[in-house]
Amino acid sequence: MSEVQILESVRQFMARQHGHFVHGKWIAPATSERIELLNPATEQVIATIAVGGQEEVEQAVQSAHDAFTNDWANTSPYERGVKLNKLADLVEQHAEELAQLETLSTGKLINLSRHLEVAQSVVFLRYFAGWATKIHGQTMQPSIPSMNGEKYTAYTVRQPVGVVAGIVPWNFSLMIGIWKIGSALTTGCTIVIKPSEFATLTLLRLVELALEAGIPAGVINVVTGKGDTGQHLIHSSLVKKVSFTGSVPTGIAIGKQAMSSDLTRVSLELGGKNAAAILADACIDEILPTLLQATFVHQGQVCAAPERFFIHQSKYDEFVQKVSGALQQLKIGSPLDESSMFGPLSNQPHFDKVKHYLHLAQKNNQVISGGHAIQGTGYFVEPTLLKVQGVDDPLFLEETFGPVVDVIPFTSDEELIAMMNHSRFGLTASLWTNDLAKALRLIPQIEAGSIWVNMHTFLDPSVPFGGIKASGVGREFSDAFIEDYTELKSVMIRY
Ligand code: NDP
Repeated sequence: MSEVQILESVRQFMARQHGHFVHGKWIAPATSERIELLNPATEQVIATIAVGGQEEVEQAVQSAHDAFTNDWANTSPYERGVKLNKLADLVEQHAEELAQLETLSTGKLINLSRHLEVAQSVVFLRYFAGWATKIHGQTMQPSIPSMNGEKYTAYTVRQPVGVVAGIVPWNFSLMIGIWKIGSALTTGCTIVIKPSEFATLTLLRLVELALEAGIPAGVINVVTGKGDTGQHLIHSSLVKKVSFTGSVPTGIAIGKQAMSSDLTRVSLELGGKNAAAILADACIDEILPTLLQATFVHQGQVCAAPERFFIHQSKYDEFVQKVSGALQQLKIGSPLDESSMFGPLSNQPHFDKVKHYLHLAQKNNQVISGGHAIQGTGYFVEPTLLKVQGVDDPLFLEETFGPVVDVIPFTSDEELIAMMNHSRFGLTASLWTNDLAKALRLIPQIEAGSIWVNMHTFLDPSVPFGGIKASGVGREFSDAFIEDYTELKSVMIRY
């Protein structure tokens, strides 16, 4: 099958000399330094972006602060919801354009960009829009004794924290950006976004759509660049909250810096080494399509996806044989070809990182299936299944963030839980079983922020999401995000 035709609007957008988006306008970068964005399937330059320094970051933060205290503060909750819904409509109308930009930038299969990245972004935006009118405090009846007949009452009110710094990774650049934008705007905050240097274009297009949706200038700003740009942002004194999604080392550094910078609030959505446990009663043929889809979607570059399969000893041989067979059937190819089932990794540094793990596995004879980078143009590797050399093996402990999965047999529930929890991470886990009683007994023992049964890697806006242990601090979605984006103010009245 041939590749989808690139829209003229996409070509024109990529050809632009992009600057930063501040106060509803494109501003010229202060320096001439530019970053080349490569298509990971072809290694060709598709666009360039500017590198934001202190000056541009301060301009963006000041603009967000002004909007926070003026236009956005004067916008009613109902209007905020209407504008977010309007943005959702515009994302839907520009879905193919955004999907193509995402695929060209990150190597995500075009159908995944269309049906997950863009379609789910719309779902999340509408969900957040609904919250705008539902954020409220409580009333309390204090117990202070009345001496002279006076009475007391008290209430709480939730107020937006102010300017949010949103730092976004490259794997779901649009959707994760929208999680931060939706959370900020619906609670009445404003935001400055720093996209990943590897996946910037979709958010640059989104802010134009936001302006078209009637979201006032300054409410959403974008400054592009590398880690240094993010550093300027989190150190700005007008930033009241940092919302970071990315790797554990960067997250820990940012968390420390934010706390030491006037206790700036910080939420961290970090990595994982997630476990999927296939219990003795599971029917391998039945679970395989869902499990493999959840594991190898976007070439495994999904924070929530499993990287460790624990299989009951009685099913181990059958499982390994069937998974290896299924992986060899995946058609690897151009992400713009609708018939491809597996595309490239998203960028060169990540390709190098995954190749390092593949070499390690080869050196130690641990490869069961796959295990190679694919020769030629583009950052392609084979989907890979590995044995591990015990629970202290780096391949058991370290996040590859790629299509590289361990298979580990177990015999008892105790052994399973001990191995699943033997990790510094605690993002997600899944149990594959029809024995509901056993699942309900195991769930409290598993150290993870999200646990699925007979599914994995499904994020829904109505269900809180976030990690424990080194996988993060804070929760997104549901009503859990409100705590992070608002201050709870208490008022007591004597009358
Ligand atoms: P990084 O931590 O490398 O980068 C994340 C973002 O932080 C990027 O925008 C990056 O900019 C920026 N950044 C890098 N260094 C600094 C710094 N010192 N100060 C401020 N900002 C900085 O992560 P990746 O982009 O490589 O993303 C992959 C990681 O993200 C994986 O570990 C994955 O598990 C995790 N992740 C977690 C999710 C969750 O919800 N828990 C969801 C998705 C991913 P630049 O790219 O320009 O370097």
